[in-house]
Amino acid sequence: MSEPVLELRGVVKRYEEVAVLHGIDLRVDAGELVAVVGPSGSGKSTLLHIMGTLERPTSGAVRINGADVAGLDDRRLADVRARDIGFVFQQFFLAAHATVLDNVADGMLYAGIDARTRRRRAAEALDRVGLGHRLRFRPGKLSGGERQRVAIARAVAGRPAIVLADEPTGNLDSATGAAIVELLHELNADGATIIVITHDLGLAGKLPRRVGVLDGRIVRDSHAATTH
Ligand code: ADP
Ligand code: MG
Repeated sequence: MSEPVLELRGVVKRYEEVAVLHGIDLRVDAGELVAVVGPSGSGKSTLLHIMGTLERPTSGAVRINGADVAGLDDRRLADVRARDIGFVFQQFFLAAHATVLDNVADGMLYAGIDARTRRRRAAEALDRVGLGHRLRFRPGKLSGGERQRVAIARAVAGRPAIVLADEPTGNLDSATGAAIVELLHELNADGATIIVITHDLGLAGKLPRRVGVLDGRIVRDSHAATTH
């Protein structure tokens, strides 16, 4: 049996009076590649922030690798995030003044990995995403697709339990986006557990499991057998 790496139970998120998530139940097992799909404003990014411990739910439980994160203080939560979660965002969020290698290596700064190992893993991850020849470049010299590959290398280099990607192809043309989706498939085949948040039905259709979100609720799950 597969192990759950992420479990949400009854997750509600409110901002002031307004409920944005209305009780989300979701289980994702090790080795899955999942699309969370829904229109703009449906609550996808809020869900990603809660799955990634960037925000706390108003109520409900979040378990990562079986551990409930609700009771953790901010510092412990930051440790969980640094060790167990890799993020990829639409806007890449690379440091402009740092080399590609340092951008990826610095992503492991807070994961308790020594400097030499950080650099070795960064170089390996960059090689894995096809950028082994760009280690000394700065992000400004790269194309959008290459920048997103750097961000993906940064997300996977520390071997997190789960990679969360929020609209990773949103700033890319369709051919470049398709190559990024292909890369996510390859990394998943190598063992990474990945959740891709997207409003792009074409992208979602290429992924093995699709979870539909609408108005803060899960309204479909193509792999409902693993949810509760
Ligand atoms: P999506 O990523 O699917 O476009 P979001 O999760 O960004 O959706 O937003 C869902 C809803 O929650 C929107 O109506 C948005 O305005 C609202 N929302 C998101 N973040 C906040 C916040 N910090 N304060 C108040 N409302 C928010
Ligand atoms: Mg969003």
